[in-house]
Amino acid sequence: MQHVAYISLGGNIEPRAQTLIQALSLLDDYEGISVRRISQLIETEPEGGPAEQGKFLNGAAVLFTDLTAEELLDVLHEVEAQMGRHRESEKRWGPRTCDLDLLLFDDLVIESDKLTVPHPRMHKREFVLRPLAQIAGDVVHPVLHKSISELLADLEQQDDVV
Ligand code: ATP
Ligand code: CA
Ligand code: CA
Repeated sequence: MQHVAYISLGGNIEPRAQTLIQALSLLDDYEGISVRRISQLIETEPEGGPAEQGKFLNGAAVLFTDLTAEELLDVLHEVEAQMGRHRESEKRWGPRTCDLDLLLFDDLVIESDKLTVPHPRMHKREFVLRPLAQIAGDVVHPVLHKSISELLADLEQQDDVV
């Protein structure tokens, strides 16, 4: 069965854009995955993690896939590794060449040991919502029951208050 998946991409080790575009190309080469739309890549300040690290480039993409969400996550991890990501030597939210997160998968809600969908922090992150809104503004979050554009507007309003 064909599923629609939304992913985020991020990295802060050069060559950032080339790495993210190459990751999308590798994903598209996989049997059972096709990359349908890609957002612009935006530059963002690092959040959390070690104090001294470079700015990130972030984007989002829409995939069509025959894989299950768990199988797709395994592929995302394989592509991260191919793009030179070494999880073992990493700090949490620290510098990385390529982070691929599964944001939404159809309108499924999944909570297993290795996978939570929708991604539990997506609605709190402008660096996720801003690119995602370019390609999926009207898509509704299956737990919060708001569109991606509404979630982004909510977040921007909170930022104004703080
Ligand atoms: P964050 O999850 O806050 O964005 P991160 O992307 O840096 O942090 P990782 O080290 O890349 O975190 O991943 C940690 C684990 O999160 C992975 O081993 C993976 O199994 C799990 N995980 C759970 N849900 C998801 C999801 N929706 N997308 C990607 N990874 C997930
Ligand atoms: Ca992440
Ligand atoms: Ca991740």
